[in-house]
Amino acid sequence: MDDLRKRKIFREIVAFMLVIEYQKRGLPYAHMLVILETAIETVEKEDRIVTAELPDPVRDPELWETITTTMVDGPCGAEYPNAPCMQDGRGINTTCSKHFPKDLSLTTIIERSGYPKYQRHEPELGGYAFTKRIKQPNGTYSDFQYSNTWIVPYNPYLSQRFNCHINTEVCSSIQAVKYIYKYIYKGPDMGNIVVGEGQQQQINKVQNYLDARYISPPEACYRLLGLKMHDNSPAVYRLTIHLENKQLIYFDPKHQQPANALQNIGNRDTTLTAWFKANQIYPEGRNLIYANYLTK
Ligand SMILES: [Zn+2]
Repeated sequence: MDDLRKRKIFREIVAFMLVIEYQKRGLPYAHMLVILETAIETVEKEDRIVTAELPDPVRDPELWETITTTMVDGPCGAEYPNAPCMQDGRGINTTCSKHFPKDLSLTTIIERSGYPKYQRHEPELGGYAFTKRIKQPNGTYSDFQYSNTWIVPYNPYLSQRFNCHINTEVCSSIQAVKYIYKYIYKGPDMGNIVVGEGQQQQINKVQNYLDARYISPPEACYRLLGLKMHDNSPAVYRLTIHLENKQLIYFDPKHQQPANALQNIGNRDTTLTAWFKANQIYPEGRNLIYANYLTK
């Protein structure tokens, strides 16, 4: 985060959010969305932040090593049905779930959906490529050529600095932003099987959620140490809105009767009733609307 907030590698940022997730074998990874103060106006500037092409192996040997080992998809597709990216939550597909190999393109183009089609030169037009011995579905080994169509988009500075898989993408349309907000909060994958008699079982959604959750040892350590699982800036505070005496009340039926809970309603303010009360006491805030009150 220091690279983004203090060293401003993507320029000034006004907001960010991040969520840390754990893969099945316990490797942590972070999904992060960063909102810049000024939009990236041109494709040339976008190309400086994100590239989907192999670096120059002579000029950037360290980056070459990182990219060729951590930022390559495939081989996948119909000939490689066992590749991990050929599966999604619904089973095995005939095409790659990450849509590799990507199209070659002489320049970066922003498509109408807001998703960029990155510049990817083919080897004949100056793009770099490398070959690697790959185990074929029939068990034999043969050389496979990776060109720019197989490269996951990355930021050269971040990849070189951290020497690991860091997928970086520019997202410029509201559609893409909405998708990413949803994506980073989607939560971990889970599954649940019940073996029992042939009768219909009563479904308890809360119990299913607890039973199906898998927490790996690294995640357990991370949680025991009290480290942050998510972060965002600026802080977002939800202001309640309700009609008079229609606010939500919470009570534990084991310890309190509904009638008693209702009686206590006057002692607990919601953000809305507190705002009304504050306006009665402090005249200087009366020119502020509800949403702006907390920020002043
Ligand atoms: Zn793939």
